[in-house]
Amino acid sequence: MKKSILRKYAKLTAKVGANVQKGQDVVIYANVDQELLVSYIVEECYRLGARKVMVEWGSDIVTRLVYKKETIKVLSEVTPWVIEKQKYYCKELPAMIYVDSDDPDGLKGVSQKKLAEVAKNRYPILKPYRDERDNKYQWTIIGAPSKAWAKKVFPELPAGKAMEKLWEAILYTSRVTDDPIKAWDEHNKDLEKRTKFLNSLNLDYLHYQSSNGTDFKVWLSENVLWEAGGEKTLGSNIFFNPNIPTEECFTSPIKGKAEGKVVATKPLSYQGQLIDNFSIVFKDGKAVEVHAEKNEALLKEMIAMDEGAAYLGECALVPYDSPINNLGILFFNTLYDENCCCHLALGMGFTNLVKNYQNYTNEQLHEMGINDSAIHVDFMIGSKDLNITGYTKDGKAVPIFKNGNWAF
Ligand code: ZN
Repeated sequence: MKKSILRKYAKLTAKVGANVQKGQDVVIYANVDQELLVSYIVEECYRLGARKVMVEWGSDIVTRLVYKKETIKVLSEVTPWVIEKQKYYCKELPAMIYVDSDDPDGLKGVSQKKLAEVAKNRYPILKPYRDERDNKYQWTIIGAPSKAWAKKVFPELPAGKAMEKLWEAILYTSRVTDDPIKAWDEHNKDLEKRTKFLNSLNLDYLHYQSSNGTDFKVWLSENVLWEAGGEKTLGSNIFFNPNIPTEECFTSPIKGKAEGKVVATKPLSYQGQLIDNFSIVFKDGKAVEVHAEKNEALLKEMIAMDEGAAYLGECALVPYDSPINNLGILFFNTLYDENCCCHLALGMGFTNLVKNYQNYTNEQLHEMGINDSAIHVDFMIGSKDLNITGYTKDGKAVPIFKNGNWAF
């Protein structure tokens, strides 16, 4: 990859993604194979006036070894310095930048049960700190190819060529054009226009219909907003883009109010495995019936993870003609794959989409219908002939999607 383009990507990450502020601390999470890109991002952070930039290096190979060799009990331990770090994050609110180059098969061979058990045990220990700083700091996640990831996406190509192709796809979908900052400005404006319209409708429910068998209704709350693209930090009001790329307008539906069947249109990559050709039937908001041609047991395990895992946390609208879908690549990575077409997510919802959420406790927000769970797993239901009709509180039908794309 050309260094000048990498620098543009690094600048986009620090400025548009995390929007690092003068005097702010920054934490960057990346794997050891991303030294050059990370060094450029570090430089851009200092250029924006960062006080201190810290990099937390990771490794697919070491992570896999650790998960294989250690017991559930040991893996579930949260060491004192991890807690101290959490306290520092809550106090200083550093911007967080995640550079994701993980091998989609990185945890292959590790028992799914073990992974789920460890996540479940650690979650309540770290949750209070996450809740405390939630929405108060900027964060962003971007992708960068590793050899293993590139070979997964392009198995027929030699490693070098596969890396090149994945870089191309990442930079194209991330709008790293001649002037990425300007491209993102325009993109954010377009997304804002759409969410404004959706929020003005005061929708009661959405009805999804597609020739593949999807016939599904999901109810929305008048207190919960649609959002897209960037968001603002609580208190300091700093605009940032948590995901590069992003195409979706999304909201959190009311927990317990969804009916009908959804048929997945893309395979779901979960814990290093593919769940494929599956459908889910919802009753009273709960996934009560699942079928999958591939890895049905894993899907069942996923929705039984905890109480909220069988309920919805997100409804997202993405046109079928999105840059990501048009590429026709399965990235095996949610950041890209979730932005290819319309999707739902099982598990945790977004409490910060409730109007004036800062005036409520987390418990109150969950009582208002925002789902809570240790998981948040997106799955795609967008198709070429997906129609979505919105029904407003006063009974008016408004076309939202027609033949897979925006109807307005
Ligand atoms: Zn989403």
